[in-house]
Amino acid sequence: MTSQTVNEKSTAWDLIGSLFWESGRTTAKPSDEEIALFTTGVQPGSRCTVVGASTKDLVEALIALGAVVTVLDFSERMCTDLRAALPAGSCEVLQHDITRPAPEHLRGTQDFVLNDRLVNRFSETEARKGIEGMLDLLADGGQIRASIKLGLYPMDERMITTGRERGSLERFYDSGKKVIDFSAAGDVLTDSLLPHGEIDSELLLQWYRGRGKEQRFDHEDITALVASAAVGERALRLVSATDFGQAPATRMYTAEAGSARRDA
Ligand code: SAM
Repeated sequence: MTSQTVNEKSTAWDLIGSLFWESGRTTAKPSDEEIALFTTGVQPGSRCTVVGASTKDLVEALIALGAVVTVLDFSERMCTDLRAALPAGSCEVLQHDITRPAPEHLRGTQDFVLNDRLVNRFSETEARKGIEGMLDLLADGGQIRASIKLGLYPMDERMITTGRERGSLERFYDSGKKVIDFSAAGDVLTDSLLPHGEIDSELLLQWYRGRGKEQRFDHEDITALVASAAVGERALRLVSATDFGQAPATRMYTAEAGSARRDA
């Protein structure tokens, strides 16, 4: 692992691995139409990094287009299970935490850095560092394409309603920062749990608890995150925000890497 300090959230994903694509909720994965948006303009030889080994269908689509694909994921099991599910040698799968600086050999090299609702798994600090970790991978003119669900998930809403009823909301939800802490929600999490495909509910509970703090975003939060991202002299420019037709309040944000001074 390239990071000095271990991101404890990776242990939550070590519980899941291939169960995500074998037994998880279909709507947690990008649809064929969403994959077509992610891959628009990808040519044979395009250098593409997917952050999140769970996004297997997108990885397979990029390999089929002839892209040179790297997958980064901080979970050892997610990496192992994806390697086992793909033809040997079809892409590089590396254990790496995207909130850390990019692996040296990949820095400044990628045409596209793609991720599906990964930013929704981040706390406030992780969101800032994660976007900068993605920028660090990009060649000049390269693009981040990140889909993000805006607002609350149905399960967040159940937890907030239940927490309010029980007088325990402040223990796990910061309404000012829109940060939910699954590790601190106790019985409210247990009693608000919604199924995730066929994944066993005890495992699901452990997974949520291990995911810890996650921020919820509105459009302005994302534009501010993109505008403030900087790695040395390099910055991002927001190019577009495209609605994902089938997933409620979910958009693919596209941002391009360039020199901060040139773009200023
Ligand atoms: N909707 C998504 C999908 O289609 O796969 C799931 C959300 S996200 C892409 C989940 C993946 O990101 C998991 O494989 C998890 O291990 C990985 N992940 C989460 N935080 C990460 C981080 N900081 N660095 C690298 N990988 C991370």
